[in-house]
Amino acid sequence: MGQISFEDDCLVRELDSRYYGFLDLSSPKNADLRTLVQQTITNLQNYIANGKVQETQSTCDNKNAIQKYESSNVAGEHMENNSSQNNEDIKPFVKETNDKDEKTHDEQYVNALCKLGHLHLLLGEYSEALSAYQKYLRFRESNYWTNHAFIYGIGVAYFKLRCFKWAIKSFQELLYLSPNFACANEVHLRLGLMLKHCGEFQIALKHLQLALLYTYPSTFSELQVKFQIAHLYEVQNKHKAAKDGYEFLLNEKNISLELKADVYRQLGWMYHCVECLGEKKEREANALNFLQKSIEADPKSGQSLYLLGRCYAGINKVHDAFLAYRNSVEKSEGNADTWCSIGVLYQQQNQPTDALQAYICAVQLDKDHKAAWTNLGILYESCGQLRDAYACYLNATKQISFQKSSLFRRKQAIRMKKDTIGLSKGLSQRISFLEGQLSQAPLPSITSKRRQLCSIEEAWNLPISLEMNSRQQQTAQMLPRQISKQSPIQGPPPPYPHSQLSQSPIPAKRIKEDGSSQQEIIQNNVQLSSQLHPNLINISDSLNQRNFNAMPEGNKTSEQSVVDTFDDISNDIYKQSETIKLERLSHDALSNSEDSRHNDYNGGGASELSTTFKIQMDSKQLMAAVKLLPIDEPPVHCTVLQVNAPPPSPPDCPPQKLTRDQLLPPTPSVHLENKKNAFSPQLQEFCLKHPIAVVRGLAGALKLDLGLFSTKTLVEANPDHSVEVRTQVHQSPDENWDTSQGKRVWACISHRSHTTIAKYAQYQASSFQDSLKLILPQDESDKVFPGSQVMSDSDSKDSVSNSNINLKRKKHKINSKMLRFGTNVDLSDEKKWKPQLTELQKLPAFARVISAANMLSHVGHVILGMNTVQLYMKVPGSRTPGHQENNNFCSININIGPGDCEWFAVPDAYWGGVHNLCEKNNISYLHGSWWPVLEDLYKENIPVYRFIQKPGDLVWVNAGCVHWVQSVGWCNNIAWNVGPLTARQYSLAIERYEWNKVQAFKSIVPMVHLSWNLARNIKVSDTKLFELIKMCLLQTLKNVLHIQEYVKSKGVEIRFNGRGKNEASRYCGQCEVEVFNVLFIKEQEKRHVVHCLSCALKLSPSLQGIVCLEEYHLSELQRVYDSFTLHRTQGLAYTQ
Ligand SMILES: [Zn+2]
Repeated sequence: MGQISFEDDCLVRELDSRYYGFLDLSSPKNADLRTLVQQTITNLQNYIANGKVQETQSTCDNKNAIQKYESSNVAGEHMENNSSQNNEDIKPFVKETNDKDEKTHDEQYVNALCKLGHLHLLLGEYSEALSAYQKYLRFRESNYWTNHAFIYGIGVAYFKLRCFKWAIKSFQELLYLSPNFACANEVHLRLGLMLKHCGEFQIALKHLQLALLYTYPSTFSELQVKFQIAHLYEVQNKHKAAKDGYEFLLNEKNISLELKADVYRQLGWMYHCVECLGEKKEREANALNFLQKSIEADPKSGQSLYLLGRCYAGINKVHDAFLAYRNSVEKSEGNADTWCSIGVLYQQQNQPTDALQAYICAVQLDKDHKAAWTNLGILYESCGQLRDAYACYLNATKQISFQKSSLFRRKQAIRMKKDTIGLSKGLSQRISFLEGQLSQAPLPSITSKRRQLCSIEEAWNLPISLEMNSRQQQTAQMLPRQISKQSPIQGPPPPYPHSQLSQSPIPAKRIKEDGSSQQEIIQNNVQLSSQLHPNLINISDSLNQRNFNAMPEGNKTSEQSVVDTFDDISNDIYKQSETIKLERLSHDALSNSEDSRHNDYNGGGASELSTTFKIQMDSKQLMAAVKLLPIDEPPVHCTVLQVNAPPPSPPDCPPQKLTRDQLLPPTPSVHLENKKNAFSPQLQEFCLKHPIAVVRGLAGALKLDLGLFSTKTLVEANPDHSVEVRTQVHQSPDENWDTSQGKRVWACISHRSHTTIAKYAQYQASSFQDSLKLILPQDESDKVFPGSQVMSDSDSKDSVSNSNINLKRKKHKINSKMLRFGTNVDLSDEKKWKPQLTELQKLPAFARVISAANMLSHVGHVILGMNTVQLYMKVPGSRTPGHQENNNFCSININIGPGDCEWFAVPDAYWGGVHNLCEKNNISYLHGSWWPVLEDLYKENIPVYRFIQKPGDLVWVNAGCVHWVQSVGWCNNIAWNVGPLTARQYSLAIERYEWNKVQAFKSIVPMVHLSWNLARNIKVSDTKLFELIKMCLLQTLKNVLHIQEYVKSKGVEIRFNGRGKNEASRYCGQCEVEVFNVLFIKEQEKRHVVHCLSCALKLSPSLQGIVCLEEYHLSELQRVYDSFTLHRTQGLAYTQ
């Protein structure tokens, strides 16, 4: 061991997760430091181990020491008395010591765990790092969010171990808590990569673009991020954008060889697969050219060689293809795709034994390789070994369903859907065909035939590569090793489900029909694999083997290596500037090291803040207190919630176990007899009391002319008005099937398009007409869907043209019928829809679109569909998937008729449970489209209301209620949101406002702007509501003042800009958070874009080149803040 320098010693003390990626401890240059880090780890481990021993053995000594200390510390004594009883169960590792001892002891002990995590992380020992961090978290559950370096560290560890769900959660919280975190750009990049991987493309793009914004040092280059963005377009099939992105990169001078190889590979493969890129011949030539360039740039890339092989195979250059595959197998270790493709080549060359062995290689490397299992089945079938074929097909289908159930694969599965539907349909046909064959032919006769190939059982269990060895000497040497390393042949052999064989005999007629489609499968299959993006294939491969705690080493698939290359390449790129960075980071580290939890939080001590800032302060006191806040660091994280609150997260469900009856509660409903009922205060009370309520007979009681919203009237009024269309599969209301895998699922698929009211009306009418024709001979449909008077068994031609389902089939499979749902028709235009909007004035105030008692009327500008009316035009089965309303506002929904709608609803207290089930089903709660499986909800003890909304019924959806709706018949609905002036509504709205920030989801209700307007416009007598609004004003005013101080300290002038009447609220053009009062404007692509402070700082840390504008005079905000007081008199709760 060399001499440890003083600097190194200091550095180790300061090291934490923020050095990750910047400090390369594996470099020989840092050998001494590495030794020191390892030594420190040993010391910490000893300390932690001994700490435990000490606490059980030497309590006496500790007590003496503490007594001495206490005599000089009265406050400590007080604390001890207070908490000595309560803390015993919380901190089980200290038994007999008193609180004082606990505090100091566990403070050190717990911090040692965190430090241990950091050091392991820097050494690249991710499992060890995670384990230490998790232990730390266990002790810090009540305040871990104040330690940002910890959240970053555990996020990186999760990321490296490919526990993406947890990595995403950590990183999202970190950005919420500290958008100006030293490594925020690294966080955005990794979030972008993971969200892309999970199919959350929109947010992925947002994060990648935010990562690009930074001018800070980073471990990745701008070009690498741009490559990821181009790839993001590619996986979304946005070919033009992807191609432009890639080509842009090739024109860059300082592009690295590795990146160049990646770009050429992607471009080459796109030319091979994407038809819109030109003539086939030309595309193939381009593909070969680019792939060869990719191999030139990076001769070690097995992936490019594999793809080259695929291109050669595609144009029948068999020899070249074999050569490329063989090279690929040498370069990229044991890739199942390569072996599968080799099998295809052999099969095409009529070499079944070789093909068999290649496929076996593939499925042994990846037991769930669907394409290989399918191809193997086809191979067996072509050799007349039906039993083996049957087993292989079953394994292929098993793979498909497995794929759906595994984490993070939903979106990929959907993307593959077009292909897999074809494939699995073919597969299920083959399976039922074989079942028929096998059930007719007695088993022995099949097995007694002389077989051309050894059975799947034999092939699986034999050391398979004997013959491969002789053919491909080099590869064979490494193959057995890999197999034993990655997929030890330990599982049971592929199944022979005998029991099923004897059942379900199939009519001979169908066998003939299906017998000819074998060729089709082969085509489908080959097509399938060529359409899949290479990276996607590999993503699924790697996920198959993904283990939550430990990652298989040595199975670097391409996505993984794309992710990994960041760390590798970037280390190279930034090695030169390493010293500079270390200085920068050490500076940071010095300023926020041990006390990071104080410095990082709100720019000042968190505990200090909670005592200093109170809603009882007037604006002068507030200003004085802000002056005391540090301005060397930018103020971060403006929450409108309580100071020092944990980052918002979905709540646990109420713990009481519900009986079956309680899980199916009756829906609160009232029947209105007359107008007086409708206007009685009891009706509003009733609605506000329940999570959801149905007000029956409302239209009749108020003599509302619902005919104004009938399709006929709408067409007469505005035939060309735009309608958004969702094409959906018709399903029974309490079920949601994925027909391709014959399974109930949560993901609810619909495709979006646009049409006009007149055209949709035509479709709606013809769908109804068709149903009348079909209803006469067929009364079965009534039995299938009880409660629906008329059922359609067909679609208009327009709708069918979108799907490949033919009408004959549909009678057998009612589930796969497609329908079109006309949604989000905007009725906000007061001129266009005057009679309709006027009619709605007849509603009682609490349900009206505009009313002084409705918070949304105080926003001051239009929020489409929220404080304006939207119309929905439906045919039977039209689905509005599960959701909570934007920012948890209440909603009003009136069924115009003539048909009914069926509603499902879960009380808001259970939304966290529904959220978790979405997560379990790999679907985004906020961005995804989901239809809950009712049994899943009951199993989780989540109650569900279920009821029918008849024409003229109003449904009141209370704040936060989760709901989903399906039309039973043909009908129109109208809907909008309202915000009753209650503490409950307001608190749910701001809670969601904050949670949306964590999720990088835009809040379309600008809650800060709204709160200031409420303070201007209304008098509040409800103490809780008052306190909540005042807290929001306090927090935002404090933030505004702090930002202004900070901006002035940077020497930037703030110019008064004012605000136009009814002008829309401001949102950051980068991160989409609401920006209140202080706007940072930067010209981007000739447009003036509003930024929040954090995003402005990313662009320009000194704020140079950025214009800072102010919308309100400070004096005005102060006046509003000071004059907003609790209204103590009885009477009206609001005035305007
Ligand atoms: Zn921003």
